[in-house]
This record gives sequence, C-alpha cells and structure tokens, in this order.
Amino acid sequence: MPSRLSRQMDPFPELQLPESRVLIIITGGTICMRRSDDGLIPAKGFLRAALAPRPSFNDNSYQDPLEIVTDDKGTRKAVQSLRTPISAYDRRVRYSVLEFDELLDSSSIDAAGWDQIARTIYRNYQLFDGFVVLHGTDSLAYTCSALSFMLQNLGKPVILTGSQAPMMELQNDAQDNLLSSLIIAGHFMIPEVCLFFNFKLFRGNRTTKVSAEDFDAFASPNLRPLAQISSLRTNVQWNLVYRPTTVHPFSIQTKLDTSHVACLRIFPGMKPEMVDAVLRLEGLKGLILETFGAGNTPGGPDSAMTQILAAAVKRGIVIVNVTQCLSGSVSPLYAPGTVLGRAGVVFGQDLTSEAALTKLAYLLALPESTPEEVAKRMCISLRGELTETTRTHFEHPKNGSLTPELSSLTALGYSIQAGDLQGARDIIRGEPRWLLNDADYNLSTPVHLAATGRNVDILKDFLEQGASVHLRNREGHTPLYLAAHAGLAGHVQILTDAGAHLHSDEMAAARLHAESGGDAAVWATAGVSGAAAG
Ligand code: ASP
Repeated sequence: MPSRLSRQMDPFPELQLPESRVLIIITGGTICMRRSDDGLIPAKGFLRAALAPRPSFNDNSYQDPLEIVTDDKGTRKAVQSLRTPISAYDRRVRYSVLEFDELLDSSSIDAAGWDQIARTIYRNYQLFDGFVVLHGTDSLAYTCSALSFMLQNLGKPVILTGSQAPMMELQNDAQDNLLSSLIIAGHFMIPEVCLFFNFKLFRGNRTTKVSAEDFDAFASPNLRPLAQISSLRTNVQWNLVYRPTTVHPFSIQTKLDTSHVACLRIFPGMKPEMVDAVLRLEGLKGLILETFGAGNTPGGPDSAMTQILAAAVKRGIVIVNVTQCLSGSVSPLYAPGTVLGRAGVVFGQDLTSEAALTKLAYLLALPESTPEEVAKRMCISLRGELTETTRTHFEHPKNGSLTPELSSLTALGYSIQAGDLQGARDIIRGEPRWLLNDADYNLSTPVHLAATGRNVDILKDFLEQGASVHLRNREGHTPLYLAAHAGLAGHVQILTDAGAHLHSDEMAAARLHAESGGDAAVWATAGVSGAAAG
C-alpha cells in the first residue's frame, strides 16, 4: 500500500484521490456457481477464476495484500487484493475477497448464515469503506431484511447482490451486478443494507424476488430505488437514504431465532383450526399473517378465526397483519381489518413478508423483549422498512452565483465557523436536499468543518441528524483525524461515540503525531493503540 505521503508527492493528480477499500464476502449463490453432473453448484476460487482475468475488475496494478480479520479473536490474515480501473468519479476501488468455507445455494441459508455474514462485517468494519455480499437470489430478500435489523447503527454501505446466470457463463448478469455494487460501495456513503440488481439499488428490507428467470428479478414495490445506474452516471436519491440518528457506534445483534416465528397466507375457505394449530406450536412467539388486500381475513368480530387470533394474542403471541398484494399497506380501512386490530393483531403497514418475518425474529431476540414492546416496535420504522408519515420540507429563497447546493453548503460553513448552532439548524431545516454528506471543493463535508469548529454542539447535532463520520476529504482524512490533530478532546469523544474510527490509511500518520508532540491522550481516544491515554 503506498503511504499517504508518497501518494501526496505523486505527480499524477488523479492518484491523489483516496482509494477506497471494499470487502467482497462470498456466501454462495448462482453468481459463483459452475456446472456439475448434479446441476449448478457453488465453486471456490472466485477471485482468481472470475475477477483477476477481467479488465474491469483488475487494472493490473501491483496486487497489494490487504488484511482481513478472520475470527472473533481478531486474528488478521493478509490476502490478495485487486483494484478496479479509475471510475467516472476519479476513484479506484481496491478490494479483497473473503469466501465462506461452505458456499451455499441460498435456499439453505438460515439464521446461523445471517450471523456469519453479520460477524464478518463487524470484525472487518474498521478495515474497509464498504462491503459487498454475494448471495443466491432465492432467499436474498430475507437475508437483506434480516441484516438490515442485525446491523445496528450502520455507518457504511453493505450491498448484497447475486445473479440469475453465473459469472462464468458467457452471457450473464453477474458481471454488471457485481461491478456496480463494487463501485457504489466504494464511492457513495449510503449507510444501509442494500440489494443491487439489474441496474437498480434498493433498500434491502423493501425488496422481494419477483422473477425466477428474468434479469429484472427484484422489486421494491413500496419504495423507489435508492439509486439507478444509467449509461452516464449513478443517480442516487439522497433524500431517500436512511441514516441512523442516534449517537452510537456500529454494533450487531445476532441469534435471530426463526424457529419462534411463522408466516401463514390466508386463502378463501381456510379453516380457522389450521391457524389455531400453527398458533399452538410449541415455542411459537410470533406469526405473520398474509391477509387479503388492505388487511382483511374471513369472518366477523365473533367468528372462530377472530376468536382464535384474539386468544393467541392474549397468550402473548405477537401477530402481524401484512398484505398478500405486491404493493400497498394494511390499515383499518374495512371492517374485517378493523376487527383484527381490535383483537390485538398489529397492522404491519407496508412491510413485505420478508421484512415482517425477520423484524419479528430480530425484536423477539432482543434481550428483555416483551410481547407488548415487540408489538409496538413492529409498527414503527427501525431501518426505513415501512413508510411513516412524510415530512414537510421548507425552502428558503436563494441568490448569488453559486448553485443552490453550494450556496447552502457555504452558508452552513459560515455558521459552523461562527459556532452558531441555531443558524446551522435553520440552514439544514430550510434545505430540501440532504446537505450533511455534501462536500465542498476540498471534499470536506459539514462534519469535517464541525470536527474542528468552535462549538462541539454543532458537531453533535449533525451526528444526531445522521451525518456520516466516515467520509474522507481530498487528503484522505476523516473528521476524527482532523479533530485529534487539532487536539480537541470533546470533539474526538463525540465522534468516537458515534462510531468514527481512523481509516487504515491514516494510522501511520496518526501514530507519528501521537509520538511526536501531539496530544497522546487525544490520539489514544481516537484509537491510536499505544498512544498514552491520560
Ligand atoms: N438457487 C440459487 C440460490 O439462491 C438461485 C440464485 O442464486 O439465483 O442460491
């Protein structure tokens, strides 16, 4: 890896843009399958067989090894990396591949497989700017939904993708899906679990598989794509991107127990006893009921079906009503839906079945969860998985020669400089676009400016609004580096509380500062191991 200093002296300006690092995690699926006598089966050696020979995945530069963490003890292993050619955004993506020992057809994945993916991301979180997970398409919408809940306070992109035809087949969708996922993960700070397929980036927990053979295999019926790829560019809908808005670092919740939940689809003439039999399964704690239209089941308030559901709710089983329709929401619009609501069945609004089932398994797995608490949280958005009432945007008049984006950003810069918290809030509130991850000519975001600003409350406010702590400026520096360099202990603390960490590229310089005249205690808080704290 060339050091930051050597890169700064490089005569070629485009090389001065920081390279981003992405980890590709391979779990299996058609994308990495090869033909066998038993049909398609997942095959190992993807980097060497499928990526290294393709010019769009390998610019043939020196293949620096990258470190990856392989277990919970933090054991590090150096593995081969490859680098893409320079992108339309003047950046290259360096990536390594971590292949699971057992590659799966995704129809066999379960909660243990989701744990394995979540742990791999968690262990390697500080070493990479983004993650791409290769996965079969069959259960992809379930895995995306499960991970969106398991990865708490996620600050970096996690993009799951797969393909309908293997990468090693002459005609395939694998190459486009993987390359676009890699580019998005390495260029755009979308801190969500996403699914990329057929030129569209979706919020993962909004997706469902809609075709067993078309390249256009996934849909997100209740939310527009977060981004679309055209021949010219990647159009990100920044106003749709979900961001955590509490100041907590990234963490994971594992051990979703899918044996405690079930999903039942209502059909005309269904016997209430069938539903009762499922609701009496030993250990069952939650049921997703796929109902007709806007949330209706057969029978009135005193029907056997309603009584069975009401009795189960009283026994502490959480029952969630979602629609069988591809799009739309359940609500007490019609009498049958209202009856269910009165019986204690939760309205799942526009949740997909995949998101409802995995959300229920996630909430039930949380320590000290109670049926009442789970039922309450099923109706509110935790990761943008359901539509809450829309927010109103206000716009203030703009003038001058700068574009509206730049003039708002500049005005925000002045407020930060003046330490004017209210002024900064007013600018953000009056701005319909997502301003906090925008960057100026030096690629400095408002968080970079606030990280060395005079009023730490402005920094805290930005973080509470979901601003990213991981974006790097043109010199490759994170806001945390700038705050530590300025010796601002309070700023460093709030940034690390929000999950900020120094980028691997910054470590050597940070160590140097900590050892030679910098504030060692501040650098230690920023994560420079060995720098004396206190
Ligand atoms: N059966 C395959 C899987 O889900 C299908 C695919 O990847 O498209 O692993």
